[in-house]
Amino acid sequence: MAAEIRLFTCLNDNFGYLIHDPATKATASIDAPEAAPIIKALEREGWTLTDILITHHHGDHVGGVAELKQKYGCRVVGPHDKSTKIADVDLRAGQGDVVKIGNLLARVLETPGHTLDHVSYVFDGEKALFAADTLFSIGCGRVFEGNYPMMWESLLKLRALPDDFKLYCGHEYTAANVKFALTVEPDNAALKARAEEVTRLRAANKPTVPTLLGDEKKANVFLRADEPSVAAGVRMKGRSAAEVFGELRERKNKS
Ligand SMILES: [Zn+2]
Repeated sequence: MAAEIRLFTCLNDNFGYLIHDPATKATASIDAPEAAPIIKALEREGWTLTDILITHHHGDHVGGVAELKQKYGCRVVGPHDKSTKIADVDLRAGQGDVVKIGNLLARVLETPGHTLDHVSYVFDGEKALFAADTLFSIGCGRVFEGNYPMMWESLLKLRALPDDFKLYCGHEYTAANVKFALTVEPDNAALKARAEEVTRLRAANKPTVPTLLGDEKKANVFLRADEPSVAAGVRMKGRSAAEVFGELRERKNKS
C-alpha cells in the first residue's frame, strides 16, 4: 500500500504535512508550525500521530511540537543542535541517517544555510522531498545563519535528487518567487509556464506545491546559479556559481 501525504496550511503561509503508512498506521508530521491544524488534519483522516520530523529550530516550524507530543506521546526527531537548542527532541538525526516511520524510510540530508541546523527529509520510496526552508518552489530560504557558498552546496545536494521526486517546501511563497525569477530569466520558457500555472492556482486559492524537482531544475533560478543565462541575468558572467547564487539571494532580499 502506498504512503499517503496530506498538505494543509498552518499559521499564515506555512505548509503542514502528514505522511501516513497504511500498513502500520504510522503517521509523521513534517515540522509542527502549530498544533491545531495538524490535530484537525489527523482527526479528519482518523490517523494518530506517531512521529514529528523537525527540519530546523525556527518557531514557525516547532511551535506545535510540545502540544502534539503531550497529546499523542509521539516521537520527535530533530537535527543536532547548532545555534539554538530544540526542545522535546527524542532522536537527533544527521547526514545519511535513516529514520523509520512505520515501514517508511526517511533519509536525512543536512542542508545548512537558512539555519545551521537545517535538515531535509527524503522519502526515496515515495519520491518525496521535504525541504522546508532550504528549497522553495522557484525560490530558496533566506540565508540567516550560514553563508552563500554553504547554502549553494545544500541546494546542490537537493538538486542531485531525481527529476521525478516531488518537492514539498515550508512556505507558500511561489508567486513572489516567480515574480523575482522573471527579472533574472525573463526568457526561460519553463519559468514562464510555471508563472502561468502559479497565477491560475493562486486565483483558485490552491497550493502551488508539491512540484516536481525536474521542473524546479528548469525554472528555479536559485537552483540554476551555475547556468550562464542566470549569471548573465545578474550581470555576473564568468563568476563562480556560489557568487552568482549570493547575488541572486541579495537581490531577492531587496525585492
Ligand atoms: Zn525557517
